[in-house]
Amino acid sequence: MLENALKLIRELIEHNYKAYIVGGFVRDYLLGRESQDIDIATNATPKEILEVFQDGFLPTEDYGSVVVNKYGIRFEITTFRKEFSYQDHRKPVEIQYIDDLYQDLLRRDFTINAICIDENGQIIDFLGGRDDLDRKLIRSVGDADEKFEQDALRILRAIRFSTVLDFQLDEEVREAIQKHRELLKELSYQRKKEELDKMFVSGRAAQGIEMLLSFHLDKYLDLVRLKDVKNTNSLIGIWSTLNVEDIYPFSNNEKEMMKDIRDVMPLNNYDPFVLYEYGLYVNSVAGEMKGLDKKKITESYNSLVIHRKKDLDITSEEIMEALQREPGEYLGDIYDDIEKEVLYHRLSNDKEHLLNYIKKHYASV
Ligand code: ATP
Ligand code: MG
Repeated sequence: MLENALKLIRELIEHNYKAYIVGGFVRDYLLGRESQDIDIATNATPKEILEVFQDGFLPTEDYGSVVVNKYGIRFEITTFRKEFSYQDHRKPVEIQYIDDLYQDLLRRDFTINAICIDENGQIIDFLGGRDDLDRKLIRSVGDADEKFEQDALRILRAIRFSTVLDFQLDEEVREAIQKHRELLKELSYQRKKEELDKMFVSGRAAQGIEMLLSFHLDKYLDLVRLKDVKNTNSLIGIWSTLNVEDIYPFSNNEKEMMKDIRDVMPLNNYDPFVLYEYGLYVNSVAGEMKGLDKKKITESYNSLVIHRKKDLDITSEEIMEALQREPGEYLGDIYDDIEKEVLYHRLSNDKEHLLNYIKKHYASV
């Protein structure tokens, strides 16, 4: 990845621009961690970047970063900038493009995110980020108080980096979180969720939750059930416990799944009918949160006599014919009944047995 990133910045340099690798990739590279994408800082303006990389584009939700997909990597190329007066403690109202890397680094959040790599692969570290990486410390670039007031998302980013990397928060950062935590209320739930998701999938979700609780951020994030989150291996399991689908953004599919997980929590996740009705995934997530044996749940599911209605050795037409009746709601009742009988091994899944059972119990209705 590094070689490809160097190739990319050399292209900008060949066009007489300055360009550096910066941000998460450098941080993670020095920590020996994998990165999803690579941030580039340059003095080329977005227009100039697009002249160099003609298939680049400007995603609407971003702050003027040009995205270039190359070598199978997503590069986010951002022009050196100064940011002025922040709106709603989130968005800079005004930015000014500048020519100077150092000035650009000063607008960034934490020292570990302000280390650069130049086109020769040399590290540039004006702000002591490497020391902080060694000390495992989240330290603000400049005044933490000011930084967090400008942009409250930095509060969550601090906690996210501390959680994911297992780093400590610098004392000044801790104080700034306490002081400005109510500003979290002004951030969109979408942005908050992106940070929380990263924390929850990190494998260290429990530590992240503990930290959020220690700063009492549950209140400002509208996560009143945060302290109820027990097992933290599943992202969807955590969100289903938090029960905030009406405020945080989720797809309909996710909403349905979280409701199912909550519904199935008080039920027996080894029970054939529960497994059949809610499926393996939902039961596994609920089972995991309850500390049940995942293998046993999977085995129980796999050994169900039927997994779906069409596994029954009978069709609606056959039922109607046997009973000499037109279609109607009664078919649903019959299905509910025979599914249960078959799942609990009280009736074998074979056409003749099923027809006999149906005739016996439903013929006179
Ligand atoms: P990751 O990509 O792993 O989530 P990252 O640090 O790369 O972490 P990005 O959102 O990709 O995060 O941002 C790239 C860089 O831009 C950061 O490393 C940081 O230098 C700067 N940055 C991002 N968000 C902010 C912010 N809210 N305030 C100040 N600087 C920021
Ligand atoms: Mg990044």
